[in-house]
Amino acid sequence: MKRGIDLGLVLCLQCHQVNQQASANNPGYCHRCGAPLFQRLPQSLSRTWALLITAAILLIPANLYPIMTVVYFGSGQPDTIMSGVVRLIQSGQYPIAILVFIASVAVPVIKILGIAFLLLVVQLRWRLSPHQCTLMYRSIEWIGRWSLLDLFMISILVTLVDLGEIATVSAGTGSTAFAGVVVLTMMSVMTFDPRLIWDLQDTKDEHDSN
Ligand SMILES: [Zn+2]
Repeated sequence: MKRGIDLGLVLCLQCHQVNQQASANNPGYCHRCGAPLFQRLPQSLSRTWALLITAAILLIPANLYPIMTVVYFGSGQPDTIMSGVVRLIQSGQYPIAILVFIASVAVPVIKILGIAFLLLVVQLRWRLSPHQCTLMYRSIEWIGRWSLLDLFMISILVTLVDLGEIATVSAGTGSTAFAGVVVLTMMSVMTFDPRLIWDLQDTKDEHDSN
């Protein structure tokens, strides 16, 4: 199966215009919007690994340090993500507890493991269905947006809940690390080039037909 790369065609990632490559080794610039063109995102694998490993390291302080402190009627203590979830469960707020657990614990871990898996698929040339791998990539891309929910909630609480003596909410060190995890995992989704999954399939076809 012929790919765009074999026909000298290159997709502009900014405006999605299909361009004819300027010369054999130089994709050039998009003739419609002027953005630089890439047959494949440059150093996609190493950049994605670097972002992903940093995100995984930041997960540790994000979970060990308090993410926020809620002081209500003069009493309160700093909460980490997990102690916050436990506290919500104890106070019977199950839906919010589930929401916080999914957004702050499950989503970042699933994203990191999922992208790492796709990197391994490409690097080690695992023979898996490219359709399913691409579906996995798109799902990770889609769930990623929900990991911002937690930071959004904290920032709203910090700005809105300032009732002086009655209740205050302040963000903790953990929230900075958590913000780092969210941003880095989002960037790793962007630096990973899903076309690499299909290249694997095409090189496999060549091997099979030879
Ligand atoms: Zn363009």
